[in-house]
Amino acid sequence: MSPVMLPGGPDPESILVVEDDIELRYALVQTLSTICRSVRTASSLAEARRECALKAPDVMLLDLGLPDGDGADLLRLLRGLSDVPIIVLSERTDEEEKVALLDAGADDFLIKPCGEGELLDRVRAQIRRSVASTAARSWARIEAGGVVIDLIEQRVVRHGEPQRLTPTEWALLRALVLHPGRTLSARNLWDLVWGREFGDFAAHVRVHMTHLRRKVEPDPSVPRLIVTEPGLGYRFVGPS
Ligand code: CA
Repeated sequence: MSPVMLPGGPDPESILVVEDDIELRYALVQTLSTICRSVRTASSLAEARRECALKAPDVMLLDLGLPDGDGADLLRLLRGLSDVPIIVLSERTDEEEKVALLDAGADDFLIKPCGEGELLDRVRAQIRRSVASTAARSWARIEAGGVVIDLIEQRVVRHGEPQRLTPTEWALLRALVLHPGRTLSARNLWDLVWGREFGDFAAHVRVHMTHLRRKVEPDPSVPRLIVTEPGLGYRFVGPS
């Protein structure tokens, strides 16, 4: 099965499934392979540690009851080293234990057995969050050609003049900046910024893009931060 493009976020490049139940592991791999080229597996804590040492995954699914120990121990160990999203696979639903696992650094839970749709939704949500936070860290402040964009302070200064962006313009700018280098179609932007409503999304995006560019581009007549990919959409290039 070939990986499919997901709306609203990139596909994970590598997923690690830590689960000792052979049938469940197989089912998870089958489902996850539809969105990811490299789904690796481990059936014990020792194997999981080895796989992590070889290459950090983009997302990890972690069973708690493993033959050589408790998955929660691996969770605590990894949390001291990395912020890879970790989704705990659990049969237990005890609230107290959930809180303890969240404290230990779990990003989400899946109660076994879970449906394919729910599994993919949760993995996608973690990827989106992780991409957004990584990108936000590296692109929190952008300076190019006399324009300063500060996403955290929500401030844009263009040739010395503070710019007032509408909430929609901020959302549009964030959507672009948080997917650096990726061409987003008008439909993608419509989904990210406006949600899935009906309307003439292409025209809507075009109008707001024009307004946004007047405020953030050093020279709006020759966009260089947000470039148009003819027939495809818009791409945030960032300062080069
Ligand atoms: Ca188990």
